Amino acid sequence: MGHHPEVTNRIATIIKTQKGKCNLCGLHFREGDIMEVDHIIPTSLGGKDEYKNLQLLHRHCHQNKSSFDGSHDASKRATRKAE
Ligand SMILES: [Zn+2]
Repeated sequence: MGHHPEVTNRIATIIKTQKGKCNLCGLHFREGDIMEVDHIIPTSLGGKDEYKNLQLLHRHCHQNKSSFDGSHDASKRATRKAE
């Protein structure tokens, strides 16, 4: 309640496939961690919006990755956060 079910389901599915760990640093997500859905291949580089191209990262890990994966764009990052 108060959540967006679709977003929650999507994140829950990804968490399960990653066994509750961040794909970048390998640490378990904990209560209160800020998580973001990341496109493994950035959509700006032709990546698709589907599960096999999605991973869940800590926000700080996501920002680290975004600085070298070709999707370095502050305005895009802001919209992706809402996914
Ligand atoms: Zn992480």
